[in-house]
Amino acid sequence: MTMDVVPDRYEAVIGIEVHCQLRTATKMFCACAAEAEPDEGAPNTRTCPVCLGLPGAMPVINRRAVEHVLATGIAIGATVPPATRWDRKNYFYPDLPKGYQISQYDLPLASNGSLTFDTSHGPRTIRIRRAHLEEDTARLIHATDADGRKVSLIDFDRSGMALMEIVTEPDVRTAEEARRYAEELQRLLRYIGVSDADMERGQMRVEANVSLRPRGREPFGTRVEVKNMNSFRSVERAIEFEIERQSTALDAGETLRQVTRGWDDTRGVTYVMRSKEDSEDYRYFPEPDLPPLRTDPAWLAVIAARIPELPAARRARYVADLGLSPYDAGVLTASREMADFFEAAVAAGAGRPAPVPAKAVANWATGELSRLLNAAAATPRGRIDRCGISPADLAELAGLVDGGEISGTSAKEALAVAFETGETPAAVVSARGMRRISDTAALAAIVDAALGEHPAAVADYRAGKAQAVGFLVGQVMKQTRGQADAALVGAAIRARLDGDEPA
Ligand SMILES: [Zn+2]
Repeated sequence: MTMDVVPDRYEAVIGIEVHCQLRTATKMFCACAAEAEPDEGAPNTRTCPVCLGLPGAMPVINRRAVEHVLATGIAIGATVPPATRWDRKNYFYPDLPKGYQISQYDLPLASNGSLTFDTSHGPRTIRIRRAHLEEDTARLIHATDADGRKVSLIDFDRSGMALMEIVTEPDVRTAEEARRYAEELQRLLRYIGVSDADMERGQMRVEANVSLRPRGREPFGTRVEVKNMNSFRSVERAIEFEIERQSTALDAGETLRQVTRGWDDTRGVTYVMRSKEDSEDYRYFPEPDLPPLRTDPAWLAVIAARIPELPAARRARYVADLGLSPYDAGVLTASREMADFFEAAVAAGAGRPAPVPAKAVANWATGELSRLLNAAAATPRGRIDRCGISPADLAELAGLVDGGEISGTSAKEALAVAFETGETPAAVVSARGMRRISDTAALAAIVDAALGEHPAAVADYRAGKAQAVGFLVGQVMKQTRGQADAALVGAAIRARLDGDEPA
């Protein structure tokens, strides 16, 4: 299946819900250590009466988690109410020891924001209805025991971890938009440092509500919730599949049911998981063990001041101020580390005696350096802040190429060596004699030596075979290991042979 399979007669109406684990040292309502990596260490070792839901245990709010949601709200331009409160969402499931989840119902920490991102059809803005804070559930593990019986195990280490839920308005229209929204949201959360948001590790979980309506009609169709998409690619594929499935059913005159469907990545299909509960089923009511939370303007100002320039703003600035293509701007802002590195390199380049254009720095960052980082992705050196190349190194290398002092080929080689060894590219260039030979006296001596060693070629040239120069140029280039300028060498040979002096 390819992109945008929405048939012309239908319009897809898609809303996205994202749960992401917040980067905090401790859990949401207790002092237990939060897992830095999912499922790390022995199970059930990070628990206490609060996150095990024992009677009488009292929750205490994690201030950092609240600040992370407020930072997210500010970053998406949302409204933060002067006060908020906590609610109990009641349901029974083995991964929820209290029989309820502490969440936020009608007073979320942030509401009415938006996120703008690029798509293959141009920029899109999706409204975000709300972002609120809640606690994660325990982890259920379905396994087979030593006697071959199917068993379900519970690891409470995840129980009570701080979780943020971000819900869009039903503004998304295509599977591609859904994927791009999720990618941009991940980038934003990482830039502001509130979550690692790794989908493969379950730190960011994306669900989509998908319905179709005849094009031009206002009322929504029956919506289906799609879960279990654990990569951006899965998000796009699952929604494409669901649009196709629903349009085929509607064409056949079938009535769709409101259900939750799971995505089977291997088979490439969605399947019915359960019929969908309405929110009334949860019997929300205010949490009696926690006081309402006031969001003091001075506190919000401190949080706002910590938010760095966001990816969309950086992309726009790179295009407008540095003259980069939207594509290069996208690559350079894909992570905050890369963007910070690039900007430091541009600053270093601008400060050199012969200022290096930002475009030249961008070419090396998006090209050869990115290639080396990707190739080393599985190692510590695959991180730009640990790769052995500093921003000043990259600027210097770009400057050497830009100034014609070394060839592009030599620069690639120097960068690769520097990447591996931690030497500076400039040191590699000097140690390996990679600088172009621009000294005409030095070049003349090498030309003379080549002419002396190949009298037959010289004789051929004098006999009118002009192409003999090519052979002689090749000999000089070989002698200088490519460090001479071939055009200059050709001119020097012709000048020497066309003069009267015998070679
Ligand atoms: Zn605990």
